[in-house]
Parts: sequence; structure tokens; C-alpha cells
Amino acid sequence: MRKMIDAHLDLAMNLVFYDRDITASLADMNAAEEGFSDQKFRTRGTVTLPEMRQAQIPVCLATLLARSGPEHRRAPSYRRSDLDFPLVSGAYASCWAQRSHYHELEQRGEIRQLRTRQDLESHWQQWKVAEGTESLPVGVILSVEGADPIHSPETLDEWFDWGVRAIGLAHYGQGRYAAGTGTPGGLTDLGRSLLPEMSRLGIALDVTHLADDAMAEAFDLYEGPVWASHHNCRALVDWDRQLTDGQITRLIDRDGVIGLAFDAVMLHPSWERGVSQPDSLPIEWAADHVDHICQLAGSTRHCGIGTDLDGGYGSEQTPRELKSIQDVHRLEEIFSKRGYTDEDIDAIFWGNWLRKLLDSLPESI
Ligand SMILES: [Zn+2]
Repeated sequence: MRKMIDAHLDLAMNLVFYDRDITASLADMNAAEEGFSDQKFRTRGTVTLPEMRQAQIPVCLATLLARSGPEHRRAPSYRRSDLDFPLVSGAYASCWAQRSHYHELEQRGEIRQLRTRQDLESHWQQWKVAEGTESLPVGVILSVEGADPIHSPETLDEWFDWGVRAIGLAHYGQGRYAAGTGTPGGLTDLGRSLLPEMSRLGIALDVTHLADDAMAEAFDLYEGPVWASHHNCRALVDWDRQLTDGQITRLIDRDGVIGLAFDAVMLHPSWERGVSQPDSLPIEWAADHVDHICQLAGSTRHCGIGTDLDGGYGSEQTPRELKSIQDVHRLEEIFSKRGYTDEDIDAIFWGNWLRKLLDSLPESI
């Protein structure tokens, strides 16, 4: 089985929001949720750390994520705006909790936080030469999804010290730093002043979830590394969560990488949230998004994987063949049948993200 780098998982959210133990096997984690009715995805999880090891995933980007503010479009956990922000912020406190979970996982040898190019190089080498990978830690690079929990640009050093190496400025709806998915708008003044701080620290800009105007502005203003961690093509699924051809071209021009996401609503226009069933969506359709980007780029250099598979949904909202993160590897054969070479498939599964991450991470700290 090939290696894979997954550019978008919400690992700590599983415990902090949903009381899930991702150190368990997939079968055990799902069995433990029998009878839970608070979320549709209960018993349908597709990601745990043992499952990631079996899927040959040495490295992922994993989020600190706290949906906050009254204008958040997806049931925010921290909706009050009358608190004495920034001194009192549920979102900031939640990120601390998630951070403490990553710390605990690291202490137990389940994960290894990667903060520098050197960390990534030596970690990759360990996985490369290992006979078996069952007991190896999964490498985790921290990324913030939606910058709202960051009090102010002046406090960004703290987040860098935690190991944050990428930031997406917005999530769903209007955020403090930028307009996100489902809302028109650009960057806010706060967003404009965060970008130079990110650049100073060498934190990459993840453009995923930015509204169109905000993304255009961010491309113009930000000079550091850019990518789209979990993002498909609007030419195939026509609503604003997907990238337009123009946005894809801007990412290609900046040597960005775009991670293929597996949420069914982003894969095919026929999918109706809460109505459609996985049987109606073959995993092969995910390959069409990669094809589209490769056609625009004239190469496979800008495509990667960013599954988003633990992002608040489970196998009720994935392609029919995808019941575990291991099943992402089914795409290898599909690419091969479509004429992609082994080198191309390596590049898509891990090579492009490895190159981009090595280019972007600080040499040392
Ligand atoms: Zn997302």
C-alpha cells in the first residue's frame, strides 16, 4: 500500500466536541457509540489513529477548530458575542482543550507533533524504513480552521509556539478575520493585519473556506506559502464551497497544493444533504476533481489528499466504497486505469504535500 498524507483532519475535535476516543480501533470506536442519537455520524466513523496507521498515513494536518460567534453558519459551539472578548472566549478555551488532547496523544506515543522541516524529514524517514507501522506515531502538523479563536494578530506568536503552521482565516459564515463559506465578503481589517504576522512567522495560508472576495484579497496580500487543504472543483459542483477555475489557477501559479475532500456534498451535484444515500455516489467520481485540476495545471503537481473524513460526518455522507480512511486507497486503481503513472499517483497521495510542507515549514525554531 502507498503512503498518504492527509492535509485535513479534525482529530482533537473528536474528543473535545464528541467524546470520542480515536486511539481505539475503528470497530471499537463505532461500537462504543451504539445507542447515541445526538449526531447522525454516530457508529459511522471512518477515522481513528490505528486506522490511519493501517492506511499508511505518516503525516496529517490536524486542526484546532472552534466554531464561534452568532454569525457562524454551522451550529457554533460558542455563539455569544456579549462576552468580554478577547479576555473571555469559549473558542479560545476550546482550542486549549484540543491542544491539550494533542499533547496527551503525543505523551502516549500515538502522535508526534511536527514543527520544523527537520521534524518532518526525520519522521518521514522513520516511517520509510520501518518494517511495520502499527506502533509508529502519526505525524501531526497543527492548522487552525477558522481564525476566530485567535484573539488578535499580536497574539499569533503563542499559536506558533503551540506548533500551528497553517491558518484558514474563516470557516462557515462571517468571521472576525474574513468572510467564509456561504457568505459574500472580503477580509476584515483584523484579517488584513493578521497576514503580515503569519508571513513573519512562516505560517502558511490555507485558503479553504474563504469567500471568493476574501480569497482574491488574500492571494493579493499574502506573500507566504498558500494551499487549499480540503477543496474540490466548482466546475463540477457549483456552489461556493468549491474552487473556481480561476482560484485553482492562482493556487497553481503559487505552487500550491489542493487536497481532495470526501464529503459527499462537495463531490457531486446530485448529492442532497440528509436525503441521498452513499450507494448513489461511487468513489470514482472523486477522481474527476483531480482530473479537472490536472487538466488546468497540465500536470499532477498540484493535487493532493485532504480527506476531511472526521469533519462532523461519517460514512452516511461519503462515497459508497468509503467506510474507512483506508478506502481512499481505492482511488489508486482508478487513477491507474485512467492512465496516471505510478509517479503521478505517488505525487497525488503524498509527494506533492511532502514537497510543499518541506518548503513551508521553518528550518528550525
Ligand atoms: Zn472544513
